[in-house]
Amino acid sequence: MADVVLKAVEKSFGSDRVVKSIDLSVEKGEFFSLLGPSGCGKTTTLRMIAGLETPSSGDLLIRGERMNNVPINRRPTNLVFQRLALFPHLDVMENVAFGLRLKGMPRSEIQRRVADMLDVVSLAGFQTRRVAELSGGQQQRVAIARALVNEPAVLLLDEPLGALDLKLQLKLQRELKRIQRKTGTTFIYVTHNQAEALTLSDRLAVMNEGRIEQIGTPAEMYLGSATSFVASFIGRTNLIKGRVERRGAEMRVTDGPLVIVVNEATGLVEADMAVLSLRPERISILPASAGEGVDATVSEVEFLGSTILYRMRLTDDRLLLVQTLADAAPLSEGMATRLSWDKHAALSIRNTSVSEDVE
Ligand code: ATP
Repeated sequence: MADVVLKAVEKSFGSDRVVKSIDLSVEKGEFFSLLGPSGCGKTTTLRMIAGLETPSSGDLLIRGERMNNVPINRRPTNLVFQRLALFPHLDVMENVAFGLRLKGMPRSEIQRRVADMLDVVSLAGFQTRRVAELSGGQQQRVAIARALVNEPAVLLLDEPLGALDLKLQLKLQRELKRIQRKTGTTFIYVTHNQAEALTLSDRLAVMNEGRIEQIGTPAEMYLGSATSFVASFIGRTNLIKGRVERRGAEMRVTDGPLVIVVNEATGLVEADMAVLSLRPERISILPASAGEGVDATVSEVEFLGSTILYRMRLTDDRLLLVQTLADAAPLSEGMATRLSWDKHAALSIRNTSVSEDVE
């Protein structure tokens, strides 16, 4: 059964429609992310689920019950923000126990629940430490424990790791996933960080300008992007646009110096307008003397650690992104090369209306 369902939900502030007819269904026990650039409406969507905003129209259901006008404290949800709302002068126990005390739960029961929850977030034994004396990552885990101890059906998280350094973010990402699996709680997670959304989510929705562009698993989004916006936002890609032509047994799309052979399985037929996504890691760099591939000159070299990202200038002046494993001797700027790719390396994008490139 779906835990959270949004049917044609909209939100306007004055005449500004910031969430535009969203349909969404999040399953029980699922880790679901809302991913998109700044201002696309993710937080507003989350705040409507939490009860901090009321939808302008549409239906919001949680566990089958319409919740549009149900106040925040009567919803089976809990919220964790980037900015923690912990009490710094109180100890960990008091912070986590806060919601349970409000409910008037017996003291022994509170102590048992808090201890269990601190164990889940790997903070067993921290009961008497003051929050102000904890690291940022530990504080974030206290905030998560405080939200989860109330046993919400759905935990809503708004960029909860945004303020932490990268190393701690990666560590807490793994912990969040572990906590989510262990408690079986439905998580709805807002982020603008595509790597984070891919790592954590069972499924995700990519949002753009108040709309959902695509919903799917991380692999579906990466390998079968429905729109050029999704292909560019989920990782990097090269978008290639042209009309499908038949040459003997082959179907091809030509865009300037690029000739891409397309697979019949893409569903494209002769004379269709096609938008293709050719991922940088699917392109090989050959020496300039190679008898195949297209001419290109190294324009920019970006060392990313385990990989190198090259911006390659083609004969028509456009740039193509090419990613290779890191090499002790990367190619230098200005060097002439040739680029090639396997026949069916490019994927067809279903919706050919090209929105602005993200790169
Ligand atoms: P970010 O990642 O920057 O937080 P977001 O995708 O979460 O972005 P929202 O916070 O949902 O975006 O905002 C979407 C749009 O709605 C923005 O243009 C924002 O300025 C506008 N907006 C949000 N809250 C209000 C409000 N209370 N009144 C007026 N406009 C608002």
